[in-house]
Amino acid sequence: MIDPRTDAILVVDLQNDFITGSLAVPGAEDILPTVRKWVDRFDHIILSKDMHPPNHSSFIEQEGPWPAHCIAGNFGSDLHVVLDGLRVNVVEKGTEVDKDAYSAFEGTNFNLVERLKMFGIKRLFVCGLATDYCVKATVMDALEQFDGEVFLLLDAIAAVDVTPGDGMAAIAEMTLAGAKVATNK
Ligand code: ZN
Repeated sequence: MIDPRTDAILVVDLQNDFITGSLAVPGAEDILPTVRKWVDRFDHIILSKDMHPPNHSSFIEQEGPWPAHCIAGNFGSDLHVVLDGLRVNVVEKGTEVDKDAYSAFEGTNFNLVERLKMFGIKRLFVCGLATDYCVKATVMDALEQFDGEVFLLLDAIAAVDVTPGDGMAAIAEMTLAGAKVATNK
């Protein structure tokens, strides 16, 4: 059971580029209804956004690992419409040219740990994209920095799987580190 006073959901990077755009994650569209179903059960909703300048160091043009994605102000960086109409806190990351950030705990517009403490949050439920990168980094930071329980929503995540099995390995790593798992049943 979700307790709307002390539980919070954190949806990682549910942005157009990661769903249908330049860095589309396989299976990302399939999780959208489940993400929305989860989100609607919470009062405390936090969304993270990858928000890069056009010449960000993580882009291939700058010898980074990824195609250009989530450029601030572009459609690709917008949150998917499935998240429309919610009262949320949006934490932005990767906003500086020379620094990449996978974890929502590396936000540049506010400190997520302090925000969760301020809300009196005791359990944090994490979902979104992608299992093997930003979700993993976020969950691992949450386990280290957040003073409460961390849940991974298994039916509301999708993996890049650059190497097949990366997503499964990431889930194993997160649960081994102490993340609990939940599904929307
Ligand atoms: Zn990025």
